[in-house]
Amino acid sequence: MVPNEAVHKLPFIDVPERLAAIVGGANVLVDPADSAAYLIEPRDLFKGRALCIVKPGSTAEVAAVVAFCAETSTKIVPQGGNTGLVGGQTPSERGDEIVLSLRRMDRLREIDPSSNTLTVEAGMTLARVRAEAERADRLFPLSLPAATACTIGGNLATNAGGTAAIAYGTARDLVLGLEVVLADGRILSDLSKLKKDNTGYDLKNLFIGSEGTLGIITAAVLKLYPRPHAVGTAFVGLAGPREALRFLDFTRATLDYELKSFELIPRIALDFVLAHGKAVRDPLPAPAPCYVLLEVAGQSQDIDARLRALLQSAKDRGIIEDAAADPEERELFWRIRSQISDVQAQEGGSIKHDVSVPVADVPVFLEEIERALTARIPGARLVAFGHLGDGNIHCNVSQPAGADKAAFLARWDEVNGIVHGIVAEHQGSISAEHGIGRMKRALLPRVKDPVALDVMRALKRTLDPQGILNPGKVL
Ligand code: FAD
Ligand code: ZN
Repeated sequence: MVPNEAVHKLPFIDVPERLAAIVGGANVLVDPADSAAYLIEPRDLFKGRALCIVKPGSTAEVAAVVAFCAETSTKIVPQGGNTGLVGGQTPSERGDEIVLSLRRMDRLREIDPSSNTLTVEAGMTLARVRAEAERADRLFPLSLPAATACTIGGNLATNAGGTAAIAYGTARDLVLGLEVVLADGRILSDLSKLKKDNTGYDLKNLFIGSEGTLGIITAAVLKLYPRPHAVGTAFVGLAGPREALRFLDFTRATLDYELKSFELIPRIALDFVLAHGKAVRDPLPAPAPCYVLLEVAGQSQDIDARLRALLQSAKDRGIIEDAAADPEERELFWRIRSQISDVQAQEGGSIKHDVSVPVADVPVFLEEIERALTARIPGARLVAFGHLGDGNIHCNVSQPAGADKAAFLARWDEVNGIVHGIVAEHQGSISAEHGIGRMKRALLPRVKDPVALDVMRALKRTLDPQGILNPGKVL
């Protein structure tokens, strides 16, 4: 076993053995072959070591594990589906932490169609949460490409965004109540279904987006929405991001609440997907500089007709160039969108950014980024795609074609500096969706208001005075 400071202080305590007494021997993994999948994240960017992996099966077991860790100053890295993109779920290389996997806790506790709520445990995958809602003819709108692997606990801990945030908000907006195990092992049970409850501070919002640094989320009451019975999807060609923004305004003015997704796709992203992706083809006969993947949904069956009328009217006004909107091609449009990030690997090194700026600034912001990047690295290829309706563009930068990958990746901080500098000029965020984790921890003090950082540190000291919850992450 790897030595642990706490074990030195309490020399007769064998952490895995004591945890096995709480959750059962089969649910404590120490064998490297069994633990490996929990110690590395899917893109291989972060790797760590741990005393053991612990897989509790109930809130009471989580509470007992955390109480034991508090008593022995053992550090805890909470983990859900291990799909996070900033290394928050990966333990450090020191090997003195336990990984607390919530995946076994995946029960449906209650569905209440009258209150429009679903109460689930933290380890349920997002795909299953959506399926449970659908079984009750409801919609749980959070929508991410990682849905079959990520857990609702992880979605809440990172305040995940995704492609439906333009209509329904981020994970934070989809929660009414939360059950959380605090750093001393107490259970904060606030599984409220109330929309209106002004009895003091809104504690649940402290834990949502805290990336496992303030408490362990064990269950949540989620908001459900009517399941749309009609959907219309279009792949729209435009002259550029300025026209895409005009098209967004036009769509909102025409369709309002029925707009569910508005995703920006530059031509270079489509080119990469066409060259390296699976089961794809260009949806439009002639290339356009930029595209929008637009989805509308609602209860009235004429939505498809109204989408076509919207597209025709936008074309007549010169806002868009062309559009494909055949319902049979819906899966093709989304397949293109979902492969953009992955196929970039086929084009060599890429340096990725998850930034947001005010929606109105997006076109100018993208022009400034492109100019600054290519001035510093001639031939660098900006693949800026994503959630235009939220001002959240994934500004990924691919290496110049044929350049040396290692030499390009060695300029990671320099490229980050260029992009984040322009983000700051627009009062934007360096992490719109994925969080801070390990990856952006050093950047946070440079971009966050010092008073806000002080308040964050004070909250951390109050809720986790020993610093045992996900140390080295966020702060
Ligand atoms: P993990 O990766 O296991 O953990 C993430 C963080 O949450 C860690 O800090 C961890 O310590 C903490 N945590 C996990 N569970 C708990 C818990 N129960 N209590 C307290 N803390 C906990 N994100 C978006 O926002 N939008 C996207 O569109 C999007 N697309 C993605 C696409 C792909 C292909 C992938 C791989 C990831 C994507 N993500 C996206 C990243 C996103 O953050 C995660 O997919 C998801 O929200 C994390 O859930 P998880 O269960 O995998 O959590
Ligand atoms: Zn995204």
